[in-house]
Amino acid sequence: SPQGEFRNEPFTNFKSHENHRAMQAALDLVAGQLGHEYDLVIGGEHSKTAEKIRSINPARPSQVVGIHQKAGAEHAEKAMQAALAAFETWSRTTVEERTSLLLNAADIIRKRKFEFCAWLTYEVGKNWAEADADVGETIDFLEFYSREALRLAAATTPIQYPGEKNQLLYIPLGVGAVIPPWNFPFAIMAGMTAASIVTGNTVVLKPSSDSPTIAAKFVEVLEEAGMPGGVVNFCPGSGATFGNAIVEHPKTRFIAFTGSKAVGLDIHERAAKNQPGQIWIKRTILEMGGKDSIIVSADADLDAAVDGVVAAAFGFSGQKCSACSRAIVDASVYEIFVERVREKVAQLTVGDAAQNPSMGPVVNKGSYESILNYIETGKKEGRLVAGGKAVENPDGGYLIEPTVFADIAPDAVLAQEEIFGPVLAIIKVENFDEALAVANNTEYGLTGAIYSDDRAKLDIARREFHVGNLYLNRKCTGAMVGAHPFGGFNMSGTDSKAGGPDYLLLFTQAKSVAEKV
Ligand code: NAP
Repeated sequence: SPQGEFRNEPFTNFKSHENHRAMQAALDLVAGQLGHEYDLVIGGEHSKTAEKIRSINPARPSQVVGIHQKAGAEHAEKAMQAALAAFETWSRTTVEERTSLLLNAADIIRKRKFEFCAWLTYEVGKNWAEADADVGETIDFLEFYSREALRLAAATTPIQYPGEKNQLLYIPLGVGAVIPPWNFPFAIMAGMTAASIVTGNTVVLKPSSDSPTIAAKFVEVLEEAGMPGGVVNFCPGSGATFGNAIVEHPKTRFIAFTGSKAVGLDIHERAAKNQPGQIWIKRTILEMGGKDSIIVSADADLDAAVDGVVAAAFGFSGQKCSACSRAIVDASVYEIFVERVREKVAQLTVGDAAQNPSMGPVVNKGSYESILNYIETGKKEGRLVAGGKAVENPDGGYLIEPTVFADIAPDAVLAQEEIFGPVLAIIKVENFDEALAVANNTEYGLTGAIYSDDRAKLDIARREFHVGNLYLNRKCTGAMVGAHPFGGFNMSGTDSKAGGPDYLLLFTQAKSVAEKV
C-alpha cells in the first residue's frame, strides 16, 4: 500500500529450482512473442508509420525482438498536442489518483517479473540476475516515487507567518520529453516517466532505438493500470530527428535524459535556445557517462577488492554508467592484485544471455566495433592480462572477452574515455594520495569506490573522492533505490539523484500561497 514503508524489491535467487524453471518458462513464452509489431501511442490512439525500427537480439542479430514505428519530426507536433491536452486534466487529478496508477503498474510488473526479465534478456542481452535487477529497480522506482509524491503533496512552508495561512504547493511543470538509454532500458525509462507523471506532468516518451520493446511493454502496463490517453505518448524514433524535434519544441517544458555525454551536452544546448512562442526556460535533467574507479589501498581486504572490481567491471559486460573501468592499485599489492584479477576473470563465461552466462553480448554492432577498437588501443597503452578479442560464435552475436589491461598510465585513453564495454584498466600508484589524485583526474564524477581497512583513508576519501556515488569497501555498481540516490558530478551530469528525496522536486515548480486569515 502507498502508506506502507518502502522496501527494495528482493532479488530473485535463480539457484532455486522453482525460480530457474520459472525463468526458463518465461524465456520460452517470450520467444514465441518475438518479432511482433508495436504501435505509436499518441493521445491513447495507436497508429503506424511507413518507416520502422527493428529491435534485435544482440546475441543473435538475425532475431528480431520487436518491430516498432519510427516517429519523425512531423510526429513531434501531434505528440505535443496530445500531451498538452492531457495535461489540462492530468495536472488537476489528485496525487492519490496518480500514485494509484504507479502502484497498479508496480503490481502488474511484480506478478509478471520473469516475463519482463526475459524481454530484457532478448532485447539487450542481460543475463538473468542483471535482468532481475533492472526489473526490481523498475518496481522500486514506481513504489518509491509514489511515496515521495505523497510526501511532497503534504509539504508546507517552514514557518506560518502570524495572521496568515501559508502554503507551499509543488505543482507540475507541463509536458516533458523523456529520453532514456538502452542500458537500464526498463528501470531508467520507467523511472524518469514515473517521476514525471506522478507529479502531474504529461510526457512524450522516446525510447532508445536499441530497446523500444521493453518500453512498449511498459506502456501496455500503464494502459492496463488505467492510464488516461495522452499522459504518456509513446514515440520510438531516431534521436537526431524525433529526439531533436521534441527537445526543440517551444511547448516542451522539461527534458529528462539519461545517456551519453555527447548527446546530453547537445540536448543542453538545444534546450537552452529560446524558440519563437516559448515562454519558459526549459528544465533539463541530464544524467550522462562515467569513468569510474575503484581504489585498492595497500591495507585493503584483497579478496573483497578483487571480487568487487571484477563484478563492477564485467557485470552486464561493463555496460553500466557505474561500471568500474579503472582499478587504481597501491604498488605494494599491485602484482598480486593483477594476478588475482586474472584468475577471477578466467572463470567468467561469455555467451547468449538466455543461457545465463556471466556476460552476455554487447548491445549492438556499433558498440562492438568501438569496444574492439579500444581494446586495440589498450594493447599499445598497457600490458594485456586477460581477454583481448571477440568471441567467435555461429550466431554472429556481439560477444567480447572480459578484457584486462595492467600498467595503464593515468592519462592514457583507456584511463580517460568511457568505453562502455568489458574492459578494465589497472593503474599502479605509489601511495594513497596519488590514488586519490588519479581517481579524480577525469572529466567525469559518477561513481567510485575504495577498499581499505584504514579509517583515516576512508574518511579522507569520503571528503575528497569527487563522485556523486561513493562506496567504501564495496563495489561501485548496484545502486539501490532509496539507499543510494543516484547521479554524478562534472560531465557525468546534473546530479539529479534518481531514487532520492530530492528527485521529484526536479519535475515540479513550487508555488507559495499566503492567505490573510
Ligand atoms: P545515447 O546514445 O546518448 O542515447 C540516449 C538516448 O538519447 C537514446 O534514446 C537516443 O536515441 C537519444 N538521442 C540520441 N541522439 C539524440 C539527440 N540528438 N536528441 C535527442 N535524443 C537523442 O546513450 P546510450 O548509448 O543509450 O546509453 C549509454 C550512455 O548512457 C553511457 O554514456 C552511460 O554512461 C550513460 N548512462 C548514464 C546513466 C546515469 O545515471 N548517469 C545511467 C545509464 C546510462 P536513439 O537510441 O534513437 O539514438
